[in-house]
Amino acid sequence: MFDLTGQVALVTGSSRGIGYAAARALGRQGAVVAINGRDPDALRRAGDALRDQGIAVHVVPFDVTDVAAAERAIDTLIGITGRLDIYFANAGVQHRAPLLSFPQAEFERIVFANLTAQWALGRHVAAGMAARGYGRILFTGSLSALLGRKEITAYSAAKAAIHGMVRQWATELSGSGVTVNAVAPGYIRTELTRNLWSDDEFNRWLESRVPQGKWGVPDDVVAAVVFLAAREAGYVTGQVLVVDGGMASVM
Ligand code: NDP
Repeated sequence: MFDLTGQVALVTGSSRGIGYAAARALGRQGAVVAINGRDPDALRRAGDALRDQGIAVHVVPFDVTDVAAAERAIDTLIGITGRLDIYFANAGVQHRAPLLSFPQAEFERIVFANLTAQWALGRHVAAGMAARGYGRILFTGSLSALLGRKEITAYSAAKAAIHGMVRQWATELSGSGVTVNAVAPGYIRTELTRNLWSDDEFNRWLESRVPQGKWGVPDDVVAAVVFLAAREAGYVTGQVLVVDGGMASVM
């Protein structure tokens, strides 16, 4: 099960963190992986590291918020590979500020990157997959779509919308051979959360609040990604799979 030999997977935001770990896991299952990020040098280094581990890699730098350029890059990739079976829309950004002083421009930037751009690019990819009659679309949601947390108003709103979008897309694409799901990570130790895991007080709170008593690491998320990306998961659609060490399950 879960053999991805012969398939092509594109993971956005995969020069580091959860996206990199997911690309590596999909590659280890046999997929050809296309990795993405805005920094071409970081992406080239990530591609070299994956190749060193025997994974077939395409390096596709683009900014997901430049939707027209991103669509061109995806089309060029598909022109080279001849197919795109798995699309993991994982790129995401954060901005932390109190609600009452949160700049509206920042709200719009965060919602555009985490939601609007994901909607536009995902829809572009979905059209090709539906025409071929097969596809696996995955988004990265978040625990913060389910539980409140101060100072992340734009991010929470966008991720909650992603969870809703997954159910809506699954409905609309049902019968096309395309499934749509999301993983919703809890607290994962990456660049995105550096300011949190650098804070001893926050770490003490997290260790007492998460039932497993620890931060997640990117590799903790990848089994969920591989499962939802697999051909065998074809009857699973419209789901948000929470990967949080049990945090959302306890008061
Ligand atoms: P990181 O900051 O470690 O990695 C983010 C990746 O996305 C990098 O490769 C970055 O590369 C890329 N990226 C950022 N913006 C863009 C853009 N506009 N276009 C293309 N690539 C972009 O974050 P994580 O691995 O932690 O986060 C991955 C996903 O998981 C995000 O959607 C995040 O919201 C979500 N998530 C993370 C959690 C956590 O605790 N870490 C919890 C819940 C959800 P570059 O900067 O070069 O573009």
